[in-house]
Amino acid sequence: MVAEQQTLVTFFGATGDLAKRLLYPSVFNLYKKGFLQEHFAIVGTARQEISTAEYRDMVYTAIEGDQDKERAAAFIEHFSYCASDVTEAAGYHALREAIEAASAKFGVQGNRIFYMSVAPRFFGTIAQYLKSEGLLADQGYNRIMIEKPFGTSYDTAAALQNELENAFDENQLYRIDHFLGKEMVLNIAPIRFGNPLLKAAWNKDYIKNVQVTLAETLGVEERAGYYDTAGALLDMFQNHAMQIVGWLAMEEPSSFTDTAIREAKNAAFNALQVYTPEEVARYFVRGQYGPGKEAGHVAYTEEPDVPADSKTNTYIAGELHFDTPRWAGVPFYVRSGKRLEKKTTRIDVVFKAGSFDFGNGQKSAETVLTIEVSPEEKVTLSLNAKAVADDFETRTIDLGWTPSASEKAAIPAPYERMLHDAMDGDGSNFADWNGVATAWKVTDAVSQTYAADQAPLEIYESDTMGPKAADDLLAKNGDTWVFRG
Ligand code: NAD
Repeated sequence: MVAEQQTLVTFFGATGDLAKRLLYPSVFNLYKKGFLQEHFAIVGTARQEISTAEYRDMVYTAIEGDQDKERAAAFIEHFSYCASDVTEAAGYHALREAIEAASAKFGVQGNRIFYMSVAPRFFGTIAQYLKSEGLLADQGYNRIMIEKPFGTSYDTAAALQNELENAFDENQLYRIDHFLGKEMVLNIAPIRFGNPLLKAAWNKDYIKNVQVTLAETLGVEERAGYYDTAGALLDMFQNHAMQIVGWLAMEEPSSFTDTAIREAKNAAFNALQVYTPEEVARYFVRGQYGPGKEAGHVAYTEEPDVPADSKTNTYIAGELHFDTPRWAGVPFYVRSGKRLEKKTTRIDVVFKAGSFDFGNGQKSAETVLTIEVSPEEKVTLSLNAKAVADDFETRTIDLGWTPSASEKAAIPAPYERMLHDAMDGDGSNFADWNGVATAWKVTDAVSQTYAADQAPLEIYESDTMGPKAADDLLAKNGDTWVFRG
């Protein structure tokens, strides 16, 4: 059901790459679907001194307005622009006037979203000025959408959280992790909680291990300046991988509401083991890509702007453990890397092999529930069954589902979904501070061990699935990666 949202969204960083590439097209989709109709306004702000007319042209270009000219022309009328420097109080006065004017023009009663699409060092500053300079609505809601990264360590994240908390309550903060807005990540809950078969088996008695793979084929490209300070650990593991793990490991929430979901996820995160340096060396593998066979696939340290002696991890694999009755002894394996053989984001839940003997010592095999998140959306469940043969032999068969072409076309982009959820006040698919804090504590233990060079750096051949040490990590538990490229 389409319900019109009455809202005023202020985009900080309105002239930036993210806004143009992902945010404006997402807002336009909400408009085309009728979630935004008449009573909405968008105020863009950034440092550039451009006019509202120039801003509208920029938005028009961003939404490829030529496909639906009339609609796009009506849509951009809802946009206005106010240049401001986020570090100076004066800019907020002009912005307040722009927001009030836009609210009055489109009949928006309160209901303000402030989207921080700027460098993370500005997040805390903006939050404080929004409050001190009176930009918040005194009726309806005031919500803040915060881009990633949320800190670079537990301490920096806690300092940022402190600044935000000075001005806002946790339930007003919508921390973006766009993986949480992906269709197949959203499928984890109905698959887990909606099927008694899987619900009953979702524990240490039936599950042997859980695997989360976030594999990229791209190298560092033009992002060396940022990436060399982050690596796979901070770029993918601390946020996206951990948020997916949260959905997989949590207890069943008491209801399907954002508060209950966050509570259940937080309880799981709180039970996650934080490792000592010795445990990091045992439970984590850091890798860095060396050269590959494909033309131009040079070693990471030969990439433009990467220091020749860089020890940055372009690959990380870890074995996580939760101290809960549900998961005692069940490893959660997480890996992410660049320049790997195949691009995929997927979850593999490995069920234990049955003990029944079909004769001749023939036992059933381990079976797997796979949720492919991207590039293809797919769910597969393997089962033991009979092979077509004169003798009685077993084999595994796959039951699978993939959305139809029309369903695929209807899947909202993560940013569209997240903007809509924030307008709806639904925080289910945003990162909660508690989860972010735990993810940082786990990550800090690893990054500090690496900063002190207390664990080996495995160089892997580009265009493979990563270092052999990551296979050994599982082999010591009698496990293997389900996805092998
Ligand atoms: P960008 O550099 O393209 O744009 C930055 C914007 O901030 C510009 O509009 C600029 O005018 C504005 N700005 C800079 N300094 C300012 C100041 N002092 N006062 C007011 N405005 C100022 O950056 P981006 O790629 O759009 O990224 C924005 C945020 O989104 C960052 O936090 C980034 O980490 C995050 N992010 C971006 C992407 C992406 O694909 N671009 C993906 C994930 C997260």
